[in-house]
Amino acid sequence: HPSENVIIVANRLPGTATKDENGKWQLEVTSGGLVSGLLGVSNITTKWIGWPGVCVETEEDKRELKAVLREHNMIGVFLDEQMVADYYNGFCNGVLWPLFHYAPPNLDQWHNLGGTTVAQTQWAAYIGANEAFARCILENYGSRDTVWLHDYHLMLCPAMLKERKPKMKVGWFLHTPFPSSEIYRTLPVREEVLRAVLKADLIGFHTYDYVRHFISSCSRILGLEGTPHGVEDHGHLTRVVACPIGINVEKFTEALKQDSMKAQIEELRARYRGHKVMLGVDRLDMIKGIPQKLLAFEKFLEEHEEWREKVLLVQIAVPTRGKVREYQKLRSMVHEMVGRINGKFGSLTHVPIHHLDRSLGFHELVALYAVTDVALVTSLRDGMNLVSYEFVISQKKHESEGPPGVLVLSEFAGAAQSLGAGSILVNPWNATDMAQSIQEALTMGDDERKERHNVNYIHVTKHTAQSWADNFITELNDTHIEADLRD
Ligand code: UDP
Repeated sequence: HPSENVIIVANRLPGTATKDENGKWQLEVTSGGLVSGLLGVSNITTKWIGWPGVCVETEEDKRELKAVLREHNMIGVFLDEQMVADYYNGFCNGVLWPLFHYAPPNLDQWHNLGGTTVAQTQWAAYIGANEAFARCILENYGSRDTVWLHDYHLMLCPAMLKERKPKMKVGWFLHTPFPSSEIYRTLPVREEVLRAVLKADLIGFHTYDYVRHFISSCSRILGLEGTPHGVEDHGHLTRVVACPIGINVEKFTEALKQDSMKAQIEELRARYRGHKVMLGVDRLDMIKGIPQKLLAFEKFLEEHEEWREKVLLVQIAVPTRGKVREYQKLRSMVHEMVGRINGKFGSLTHVPIHHLDRSLGFHELVALYAVTDVALVTSLRDGMNLVSYEFVISQKKHESEGPPGVLVLSEFAGAAQSLGAGSILVNPWNATDMAQSIQEALTMGDDERKERHNVNYIHVTKHTAQSWADNFITELNDTHIEADLRD
């Protein structure tokens, strides 16, 4: 496609702003899936709009931070603390996040603060924050720009933008699951949210299931007609597509070629010699099914005495939303389980679960993926789950390195729809099934390992973050041209 200016809008900018000891603003740029996805797409120049992750009080601070952000093509949307509490922690993380992952809203928070009033305050804040984002977009928009909105934080923006600029090219992509209409219809503001997001030209999800759920929500709740291409309202079509994200493959393959990486891998191999390594890498979130994973591992050790001294589960549990009570409860629960299982099955020379409550750096993580024999992804719901992609790309390819590892993958992760064929799929709620799958993975023959790995490897290298971004932008352009022709 022709050269493009794309304005990427997400709740968080891809960077964290902090003030150093001299009072100067510093920006640490993060390179999540979104950033690396867009980096590799040729002909696209990007501008980023989002919240810089800090509440900035004075006008002077705002001015200085804006200047630092501008150097990185970023534009900050400034939210005050009350707004962050009600819009971000409240409506986004307390209502929409759980709902989209099939959990009821965080009732603790509603109960403590007084039911419906809180819900109304949070909804008002959600509208207010979306207005702040839309204002910022409009201020920075040029008629040749394409606007790409991300995630459940910004579902009202399409309507707010199109009202002012009907010709604007607007796409919205959801990074979480979209739940069954039976779940979605419990949202008190279900109609307002759907109507607003439908004003986008193109709506994208990771899987066909999410597409289906969205379209049936529109037809059941709004009475609109779902077509194979999207949702139709009085002759106006909103395109809805499955456009699954991937990873930046080159970043991994390049890293794996480095001597320092090879040395790190050898070091880990030596450390784990004589043991099979199983690996879990998750944010410490309810949706990741960490307790379910531990229970299955416990059951496996109970039933397979012969493995007790020979297998190790490394669980990286990256802290997240640590101020929320439910997340604190989850953390204590996981700690208690790890203690119990290690107490029960450990020996003087071996501890079965190696649990870390922190994140790893990129190189450490890739080395760990590389030495893993069995990766365990047990999400109860997960938009995609990139950890499974990263494990696949980091696995051994050459004969000399031994047979590749096995991916045990929850059928409730979006990735199950792309990596299902090359993995052992499990229902994380069924500990017996999972314990059996662990056994199957640990004892799988070399030929089958290679075959399965190849299927997954081909998928991961073909469906990258770059092709995802490229496909979405191309589709958005085509959609817009078609709509122009129809008018
Ligand atoms: N990750 C990381 N350091 C860690 C553990 C994880 O950078 O110690 C990264 C990991 O490489 C992956 C992301 O966190 O890119 C997790 O993405 P995923 O889609 O699996 O789950 P999410 O956290 O987005 O729900």
